[in-house]
Amino acid sequence: MIEFQNIGKSYGGVRAVEGLNLHIELGELVVLIGPSGSGKSTALKMINRMVDHDQGRILFEGREIYSFDVRDLRRRMGYAIQSVGLFPHWTVERNIATVPHLLGWSKESISQRVTELLTLFDMAPELFRQRYPHQLSGGQQQRVGVARALAADPAVLLMDEPFGALDPVTRTALQLELKRVHQTSGKTIVLVTHDIDEALLLADRIVLMNQGQIVQVATPLELLSSP
Ligand code: ADP
Ligand code: ADP
Repeated sequence: MIEFQNIGKSYGGVRAVEGLNLHIELGELVVLIGPSGSGKSTALKMINRMVDHDQGRILFEGREIYSFDVRDLRRRMGYAIQSVGLFPHWTVERNIATVPHLLGWSKESISQRVTELLTLFDMAPELFRQRYPHQLSGGQQQRVGVARALAADPAVLLMDEPFGALDPVTRTALQLELKRVHQTSGKTIVLVTHDIDEALLLADRIVLMNQGQIVQVATPLELLSSP
């Protein structure tokens, strides 16, 4: 589904990622984990071309990512980040509908999809759809951020510490929701975290990064049983 072939990236003189080789299978949930500055976010953002690599090739569905129209590529990949990035002047509904709106969905389809997603994330649609981001708690904002990434039912979800700033209870609840979404939808998910418990709970495979390189790739079970 997504294939890194000998990928490298520098920012100015700083080598952020080097010699990255990784094949992410269709429907797989891959967690990139490692210390701060190890290149996780850079690796993630190269998949939807938010960051350009300067070495190697990345394939999506067997095609070089630069052969896609960039907007088409991004619309096929939901993206959710810790800082959420909701548009403050848009309602919850409009925020969730960002991509469906760009894709020209009808009002009815959008409304129905927003109802579905808010319900999935335990936010009563009648209470929340017309609210603005500042009228939500941090946890609710992050839910809306993840709902937005899911809205147009993209084949791929890219998530950069999507549950980072949450209290432990809300974080666990959202992790379990994501696991359920993954198990029921078969989406390919790439998630960046520095939380090993999150990685063990969610991942099909864990990719351990350090100083811009992949140090180890293992299933949670392999990782737990290795010396
Ligand atoms: P991680 O997500 O693991 O914390 P990053 O991919 O954000 O790692 O960063 C990898 C390296 O690249 C770090 O040394 C970081 O300082 C550097 N870096 C990341 N983004 C930029 C940028 N926009 N400009 C310059 N250096 C950057
Ligand atoms: P336009 O056609 O108006 O240039 P874009 O496709 O560039 O629109 O996207 C407009 C906004 O929607 C941007 O802020 C972009 O980050 C956001 N966006 C586009 N695609 C996605 C996506 N797959 N997931 C999340 N946000 C997206």
